[in-house]
Amino acid sequence: MTENIREALARYWGYGDFLPLQKQAMECISRRQDSIVVLPTGGGKSLCFQAPAVTEPGLAVVVSPLISLMKDQVDALSEYGVPAGRIDSSLSFDEQRSVFTQIHNKKLKLLYLAPERLVSGRFLEVLRKVKLSFVAIDEAHCVSMWGHDFRPEYRQLGSLKKIFPDITIGAYTATATDQVRSDIAEQLHLEKPVMLIGSFDRANLVYKVRQRDNRIKQVCAVLDRHKGESGIIYCIRRKDVDSLCAQLAGCRYSVVPYHAGMADADRKRNQDLFINEKVETIVATIAFGMGIDKSNVRYVIHTGMPKSLEHYQQESGRAGRDGLEAECCLFYSGGDYGTWTYLMRDMEPEAQEIAMTKLSRMYSYCTGGVCRHKAILRYFGQDLEKTDCEACDVCLGELSRVDDALATGQKILSCIVRLDERFGGNYTALVLAGSREKRIIENKHDELSTYALLSDYSKDTVHNWIEQLVGQDYIEKMGEYNVLNVTAKGWQVLKGKETPRLLRPVQKPVKVSKVTVDSWDGVDRGLFEALRKLRAAIARKRKIPAYIVFGDAALRDMARRRPSTPEGFLQVKGVGEKKCEQYGQAVLAVIKDYCLANSLEMDVGAYTRTVSAQLQVNKPKTRSKVSKARQVAFDLFEQRISIKEVAESVDRAESTTAQYLVEYIGREKITDPYPWVDEQTFGRIVEAMQQVGDGRMKSIFDLLNGEIDYNQIRISFACLNNNA
Ligand code: ADP
Repeated sequence: MTENIREALARYWGYGDFLPLQKQAMECISRRQDSIVVLPTGGGKSLCFQAPAVTEPGLAVVVSPLISLMKDQVDALSEYGVPAGRIDSSLSFDEQRSVFTQIHNKKLKLLYLAPERLVSGRFLEVLRKVKLSFVAIDEAHCVSMWGHDFRPEYRQLGSLKKIFPDITIGAYTATATDQVRSDIAEQLHLEKPVMLIGSFDRANLVYKVRQRDNRIKQVCAVLDRHKGESGIIYCIRRKDVDSLCAQLAGCRYSVVPYHAGMADADRKRNQDLFINEKVETIVATIAFGMGIDKSNVRYVIHTGMPKSLEHYQQESGRAGRDGLEAECCLFYSGGDYGTWTYLMRDMEPEAQEIAMTKLSRMYSYCTGGVCRHKAILRYFGQDLEKTDCEACDVCLGELSRVDDALATGQKILSCIVRLDERFGGNYTALVLAGSREKRIIENKHDELSTYALLSDYSKDTVHNWIEQLVGQDYIEKMGEYNVLNVTAKGWQVLKGKETPRLLRPVQKPVKVSKVTVDSWDGVDRGLFEALRKLRAAIARKRKIPAYIVFGDAALRDMARRRPSTPEGFLQVKGVGEKKCEQYGQAVLAVIKDYCLANSLEMDVGAYTRTVSAQLQVNKPKTRSKVSKARQVAFDLFEQRISIKEVAESVDRAESTTAQYLVEYIGREKITDPYPWVDEQTFGRIVEAMQQVGDGRMKSIFDLLNGEIDYNQIRISFACLNNNA
């Protein structure tokens, strides 16, 4: 059974293997066992039911809460060549009739429905006449009142087991506590469901947290790192959305706003512009995001602190659904804490207490210097096994520990005591930094023994340390004015019995995240861009979002492998038979043109598969060897060793080795072609180039009567390129 699924995975989706727990989740369906599958966003939940739907006899029904989600999945499945349909209120009568006909003629493998429709009398009539393979319930937490998105219509699904006593049900969600999981099982009357719970860690997200000191500057710095890529900027209030959007548009960034205060039509238009990649960035309140499945969001910026880590995880989780690296930047301030406290003032006491606890945990996350992946996981009751996630500001060394944290902490705390615990963070920081502000002099606080104790640092740095101490519970903010008080834990610091952890941003990031390096490994960025343009053109023509044509991961794999044949193209992760048939020609043409123009090696890796039945097992196995050979060649080129000798050392043809050299020249920006092309030959090539004027290698080759081989021309070109 698993082999059938594997084959379908390869044939339709172009994937050679399962993501964690996918296999087990799919096997539950084949074994007719109910299951609850909890995987993080981007964990590949959809495939857990889509692949078995293809292999199991009959029709699988998928319950989904939103039309946009159904549409997205049905469009994507159609692109993969999987017969899927949906019935929802946005379809015309004729469209609905066409789906019913397909159901009747057993042409569909998956049918997407809203929960209330599935259990409606009229619909049950239809479904009773066809063979159902199983029911998949997407976003299953909606069934539980304990979840964050309870939907009463999901409760009706409780009758499914009565209506179809033998049906297998799979429930899928990204967010479920123990309580929610048991509730799902109970509400749906699942029979001894298998619980599959994955790690909540989103290893491909690079989390960065900074105190907000200059919103526009900090936001622009992130946008500049992601030119041409899609991203979301979240603001707490609508007016912040409007003002930031105007500022960014003024600086010529491609942005549109989104919030609940806008007219429906405007909101919808802006959402479509973003999804169809006509604008790069959407600036929004948290009203934006539900039902958005755009897989290639490369960054999510929070310009204010969310009110809980649940919210943060959900919003930042919209980045990198395709499994590729994505950056999540959070800019917070102590003021955000105050804003939320104010907004929560009218809550019922019990609810308020819970909300305040969540807010404090969120604030501690911002100010605490613990690995961000670890902190988030811990909050959700899981542990990170690695000691260094290599994907957050703390582990990447962007924050450095203050050496004398105990003494610094004591200076701050004793200043609070000297100020009789009657002042806020900003004022205390001014006193410690030695400010000559009028009110400080008037209050005679320049005469305190703690005045100017931290005058070597800016007020902002000191204020940030104060917030860090709040986050670690050494200081408490009291009352309406957030007056600072030293806690019992803080007194332990004053007595020298406990040392706080204080951090400071370092000027230059020390390391680049490993997820970023790995996912770009071997990818030619120029070719990736060329393929992105092609993808955009196809998407426009076919009126579907670009990420449904090909995900970014597939595009990078194309720009890495650079196939020259349909067989090679089928090896690309995310390219199944239908996509190969539909787009193969266009993609291969772009790859070929690009590689010829840039003297790039094609067919990187060995391709052994020729028939589609073998698809699943034959992803190139020699890629790492190839990369290794290239690396060794680069090392030898550095010592200016000849192509012939390098070719022998790395056991590659001279033509391949020459291509390595061209890559090496490009990478190292080498302008001098010696010793690989001698002076006289180089002179002749340059002269010929000036004569032909069209920049084509073939024209130069012909003009020189074929006396100088292509490799020499290519190498000279590469060096001249670096001079340009
Ligand atoms: P979720 O619904 O859990 O958020 P998706 O089903 O949208 O996740 O999958 C996330 C991404 O992972 C998609 O781009 C999908 O194509 C990709 N994916 C799913 N399964 C696999 C697999 N077995 N191998 C490689 N990529 C996969």
